[in-house]
Amino acid sequence: MNKVAVYPGSFDPITNGHVDIINRGLRIFDKIIIAIGYNPTKSALFTVEERIEMIKELIGDNPKLEVGSYSGLLVDYLEEVNATVILRGLRAMSDFEYEFQLALINRRLDRQVETVFLMTGSKWFYCNSRIIKEAASFGGSVRGLVPDDILQKLKEKFPLLKEGNARKRKERC
Ligand code: ADP
Repeated sequence: MNKVAVYPGSFDPITNGHVDIINRGLRIFDKIIIAIGYNPTKSALFTVEERIEMIKELIGDNPKLEVGSYSGLLVDYLEEVNATVILRGLRAMSDFEYEFQLALINRRLDRQVETVFLMTGSKWFYCNSRIIKEAASFGGSVRGLVPDDILQKLKEKFPLLKEGNARKRKERC
């Protein structure tokens, strides 16, 4: 039996933290569907169509990965794609309470559904799309936090964005 998981999120844009969860998820699941949720309350930098395109380019022709989008209930989308597992990543404690509530409501809405959490890779603890967009909008280097192709897309949105790596602090007393 194929184990299919849906990895839902805003992916605005997809970061290396997301990529890490996807790659590790592939060791557990036969297929992962990356699902972009239409969230009318969050103002987005990239349209859902742009995000789908960016993720498609990133995953290439990997048969174990798919990208889709949904609006409305996530459990309805799971039913539509024939999946019963939701994959989520956990960073700081601050993620935990929200993720806990989300997992419980989804299971209440559909008893078949289970949420599986993967702990963030230590390198990606502070890696989140909002902070990346904020830094990039002021011209701060976010190289290494997002895949290179995504960095190019960010540069198109934020002309101020620098090419180089993050500045190293000079040690002195
Ligand atoms: P963000 O919170 O960065 O805007 P999303 O809403 O797209 O990201 O998050 C989708 C899922 O990916 C959530 O479960 C979120 O906790 C997880 N996630 C996002 N960034 C990371 C990361 N750096 N490490 C682990 N999980 C992450």
